[in-house]
Parts: sequence; C-alpha cells; structure tokens
Amino acid sequence: MPKINITDVILRDAHQSLLATRMRTEDMLPICPKLDAIGYWSLECWGGATFDACVRFLKEDPWERLRKLREALPNTRLQMLLRGQNLLGYRHYSDDVVRAFVHRAADNGMDVFRIFDALNDLRNLETAIEATKAAGKHAQGTICYTVSPVHDVPGFVKMGKELAAMGCDSIALKDMAGLLTPYVTAELVKALKDSVDLPLHLHSHATSGLADMCHLKAIENGCDTIDTAISSMAGGTSHPPTESMVAALRGTEYDTGLDLEAIQEVGMYFYQVRKRYHQFESEFTGVDTRVQTNQVPGGMISNLANQLKEQNALDRMSAVLEEIPKVRKDLGYPPLVTPTSQIVGTQAVLNVLTEKRYQSITNEVKLYLQGRYGAAPAPVNPTLQQQAIGKEDLIDCRPADLLKPELERLAKDIGGLAGSDEDVLIFAMFPEIGRAFLEQRAAGTLSPESLEPPKSATGEVKSAPTEFNINVHGETYHIKVTGAGHKGQAERHFYFTIDDIPEEVVVETLDELVLTGGTEGAVKTAIAGKRPKPSQPGHVVTSMPGNIVDVLVKEGDRVTAGQSVIVAEAMKMETEIQAPIDGTVTGVYVVKGEAVNPDEVLLEITP
Ligand code: MN
Repeated sequence: MPKINITDVILRDAHQSLLATRMRTEDMLPICPKLDAIGYWSLECWGGATFDACVRFLKEDPWERLRKLREALPNTRLQMLLRGQNLLGYRHYSDDVVRAFVHRAADNGMDVFRIFDALNDLRNLETAIEATKAAGKHAQGTICYTVSPVHDVPGFVKMGKELAAMGCDSIALKDMAGLLTPYVTAELVKALKDSVDLPLHLHSHATSGLADMCHLKAIENGCDTIDTAISSMAGGTSHPPTESMVAALRGTEYDTGLDLEAIQEVGMYFYQVRKRYHQFESEFTGVDTRVQTNQVPGGMISNLANQLKEQNALDRMSAVLEEIPKVRKDLGYPPLVTPTSQIVGTQAVLNVLTEKRYQSITNEVKLYLQGRYGAAPAPVNPTLQQQAIGKEDLIDCRPADLLKPELERLAKDIGGLAGSDEDVLIFAMFPEIGRAFLEQRAAGTLSPESLEPPKSATGEVKSAPTEFNINVHGETYHIKVTGAGHKGQAERHFYFTIDDIPEEVVVETLDELVLTGGTEGAVKTAIAGKRPKPSQPGHVVTSMPGNIVDVLVKEGDRVTAGQSVIVAEAMKMETEIQAPIDGTVTGVYVVKGEAVNPDEVLLEITP
C-alpha cells in the first residue's frame, strides 16, 4: 500500500510564510503532546528564518527552542531546512563550521536535514550531506524547483540522481514559490521516481492556488511524502491544509492513516494562536497568481512591499515585479530562494529606483557574478559581469574551497560571551545581532519585541514612544515628542524637543513609524531630521533606506569619482556607495550602525 506520509510545517514554514516567522516557543509547547501523537512522518521546526527571528526579534535562544521541542516531541522526527554551505546565514561558511553546525543540531535533537543550495550547485551540499551522515541522521537532498529557459525535467532528474549518488536518504522537490502546476508536477515526479530509487518529498506553496492539485498529482505519480500546514495556518503564501489532504486521501490506496479529528483539535489551537500575531499577518493570505508570471516567492513580495513603502514608492511595485525577471536573466536564471531572492530582489529595487539600471550594484551581485555563490545555472550577462567585477578574478571552484577553517577564530572573536559551541554558532550565523543577543543575555536584558502593533507618535494610537534618548555621533540627546501635523499629508510637520530645545522637522512618511516599529521608527525619523537635504553634486546619498555598515573615508580625505565611500545595508544586502565627484570629504553625517534614508546627505564632497 503506498501510504502517504505527511510532514507538517506548522512550526516553521507556516508561520514564516504568514506571520513573518514570529511564532514563539511558548505558543508551540502547549500543543506538542497532541502534535506528537498525530503520527506525522516529521515536523519541520527549524530553519534560517526561525533562527534569525529568534535571535533578532523574539530574543529566544534558537538552540533552546530546539531542545524544548525535542523534549516535547519524543515520538516525531524533527526536521530542519539547511541552506547548504550557507547553513542558516547568508554567506558561505568554511567546512569546519558546517560540520560543527550539523553536529550540534543533531546532538540537540534534529533528525532530518533538508539541505538545499539556492543555485542548485550540488558542490555546496557536499559537506552538509557528509556531516549529516556522519552524525547518523537523515540527509534529504533538495532540488529547488524553478522555471526558466535552462531548467527542464531531464535537468532535475539528473540532479536527483546526483543527490542519490552523494548518499542522500531521500529527495525533496522544493517549490518555494508555488510555481509548480499539476501536470508538470505529474511529469516531474514520475520522471524522478522512475530514475531515482529514494523516497520523494514534495514541498509546494499555496500562493497561486495550485498546490493542492500538485500534491494530488504528485501522489498519483509516486510521491511518498507531502508537506502540509495545519489548516488554520494554511493557504495563501503558506501550504495546502493538512486536514484537507488527510480527508482527500482517506479511504483510498493513499490513505495517510492519520486521525482527522485529532488534527482538527490542533487546528483549533493554532486558530487561537494566530490571533496573537495579527500585526505580522502577511498582506497576501488569499490566492495570488502573479507568481505564475513573475516567479517571486510570497515572502519576497512582502519584503519588497515593505522596502518600497519605506521609500514611499509602493506605486513602483509593478515596475519591480517586471524588473525581477530581467535581473534574474542577467544572473543566469538562479532559482529565487534565500539568498538569491534577496540578491535579485534588492538589485531589482535599486534598478527601478535609480536613474538607470545597474547604476548601483550590490556587493552580493558582485560576489555572485564572481562565482562566489557557486555556478549560475546559465551564463550570466557578460557586460554586467565585466562592469561589476572589473579586474577582480572569477572563480569556478566550490566557493568554500577558498575558505580557511574559521571556527576557532569565531570562538576567539566572541570570547567569553559564548558559553558553548552553540553560542559560537549563533554569533557565526549573525555576527551583529548574534553578538547583541549574547551581550543582552549576559546582562540579563533580553526582552522580546512587543506583540502590540507599533504605535505612531501622534496620539491616534495610545502607547506611542513620545520620550526617549538617542545616541548620535557619540552624544546622547533626550527627545520628547510634543506634537505632529495631520496624518495623511504628504509632508507632515513633527514637533519635539531635543534636550528641552524645541525643534521641528518635516517628515514625509510617518507611516514608517507604523512599519518599522515604535522606538526604532521614531529614532530613525528624529535622526533623519538632523541631516541636511541633498542639493549639491557632491552630496552622497543612498538610494534605499537602510543601515550604515561602514564609512570608508573621513573628513579631509581626497576621493575620486566612483570610489567607494560608504557601505550600506538594506534588506540584508550590502551596497557600496560611490563618490559622485572628485574632491575632498568636507562633511560626514553618518556613523556605522545608523539608519539612513534616501533624502539625506550622508557625506559631503567638495570639489
Ligand atoms: Mn517553503
């Protein structure tokens, strides 16, 4: 009997897709006894975004979450999503870090490692697969599904065979954007099952309304396990509902054998839990078929929307969605999944918001074009490649072959703040927020972000951050908000005192307060008021709201046009900002770590 197995993604991808990955461990543990009794093949519960959200927003130790889930789910396999050589971060790690990470995850309770590479460059999976096998755990090799002129069924089947030859215990067909259509699924699953003698798992998103049909076609053609989400957190950019699939297969040769009533109880639990997180609800909870034309994963659409909102350019969304396939083509058709989705998305936003395409190129696009993420699926645009990397070298080896062991250095860098290898790995994944997390933990000041919607400072919503200290250029200012003009005006006057001296700024987007969260948004606005508006050719500005990663020059330095003077970060991508003219740096208005907006002068260069 080809009984169908189910992996429920409620503890990872469901809330990642619908609630910005914000579900807390405290909302998972109470239902674990019931989840554990269902009889799932596995529960997906960990991945890059959950790890990131734990450290960044929830101030939870992600390793502690894993240990608690392990304890609460003794009878169910725990599954994680691993970005191959990128682990849970955004860069390639050396092999010793990859091995350490996999072993620590295995020791803390992980059973199944679903390992993928954004470019489907299998060299980037080698070490993680080996480490998983060495730890005695289940290595699931992943095929990232995408649509392009260079991706086809024979190519995916070839990948499947290669993954089997690398020692994988099963194959996952990962349709992260909901691109699969039912008949393509049928063809692909049949071809894979005909050529690869391993269990096949299907992961597809419900975004375009096709995933349930794809699941059914996959099952009819030999797929062994499907990924679903408990119904109260299914659909939209999430997944087909568990209960519906169980009901659909009940009494057939594919019967899952799971108890529908028991799952429905779990469903009602998460129905209540979801309400707690309403402020994080994705805007796209219904069917959005645009993915069938623009291939943009659900999570990426909301990221882009936030980015554009901050820029007051939400009306450019269509232009960005049109630009994405062009950038993707220039980069040799990478599948869109972390980190390539951010690399392509951010560059597309830049291309739309700057005067001409590729006027500004992110560091990540440059590294990508050098081959530092691996081999692109197809040749890249040679002109763009030349422009981006200049005289620097191209590489064609496995990117991690160029990396020296780095675990010891990482341990040394974080020093006494790390009490365990797990702590070192938190720092390794997220150097800045990881360190901040460990510092706050040491100081006993960890506190999760509020679950209340962020407030604006105008009194319309009651708990606005109206009084706070900010630190600018090493000096602390006491800010008290005293009033604001009417909401809804394009330019809004904003009144406050700095150290008791009344000040006024004109703020263009007060919505930012709502978007970026209480104090942070207010601080951003207050600082923005202190920088001059650009008016001269020598005024250096950013094209996107973001944070300053590094200031490469100081006052008095001579610079030439085109020289990189600032490194900024937006949407987790770094961009170098170049000097617009030759001259001398006569003003520096930013320091490392500050938030910046496009309509402010960051540096002043005088010819
Ligand atoms: Mn997914």
